[in-house]
Amino acid sequence: MRRKKIAAGNWKMNTTVPEGVKIVQDLGEGSFDISVDIVICAPATHLDALNQLELPKNILFGAQNMYHETHGAYTGEIGAPMLQSIGITHVILGHSERREYFNESNEMLGKKLRTALDHELIPIFCCGESLAVRNAGAQNNHVIRQLKESFGDLEGSEIAEIIIAYEPIWAIGTGETATPEQAQEMHCDIREFLRSEYGSDVADYVPILYGGSVKPANAKDIFAQEDVDGGLVGGASLKVDSFAAIVNSF
Ligand code: PEP
Repeated sequence: MRRKKIAAGNWKMNTTVPEGVKIVQDLGEGSFDISVDIVICAPATHLDALNQLELPKNILFGAQNMYHETHGAYTGEIGAPMLQSIGITHVILGHSERREYFNESNEMLGKKLRTALDHELIPIFCCGESLAVRNAGAQNNHVIRQLKESFGDLEGSEIAEIIIAYEPIWAIGTGETATPEQAQEMHCDIREFLRSEYGSDVADYVPILYGGSVKPANAKDIFAQEDVDGGLVGGASLKVDSFAAIVNSF
């Protein structure tokens, strides 16, 4: 079975609610291949309003983060049941900005994965190396270690619910993109890791997205790679024309 094609947008801390509503309404008027899942990961303040818009069925919404505890005295945090209660289907976990600015460790992300899966939220789990790690030639070991340490003792059937996003940090928001070959090499290694740990059914099922300065000009070549199943798109997802062109690049 061909894996799902996914174009996910990470808006980060951008747009007001009315601006976000306008972007999604305009996007909803575009014509897209219905087999592509479009997942908009908007700020938490926007999600309820966005999810109530009349939209094509393949436009879905995700949060950009959530806490591993479900409720309690954790001021400022958002729990999985809260996202579930407004019909949100996806959640980004382990974005490099969360790892860097909010000290999210592989171990903490393992707890978040457990909680997301327990609440039927589909994690978009981010991994990726810094420029220093790539320059040292250690990128593959680094990424596989991130996955191993966060996946812990999750079952294969649970891993099958996860979307992995490979995002080299040196390519995020920099305008510099991994070459299609660099993306393919890492995606292939990630898939081989899944195969050796969880078997071929899981490895051949889990979508692996590439993220890092994806734009209309490079999306087609990146998405054409055997093990690239779509993109996690930051800056270019905030402009309807560019995100629509990316969605239509499969
Ligand atoms: C991201 O935020 O995950 C990302 C890949 O950003 P950009 O596309 O702007 O590099």
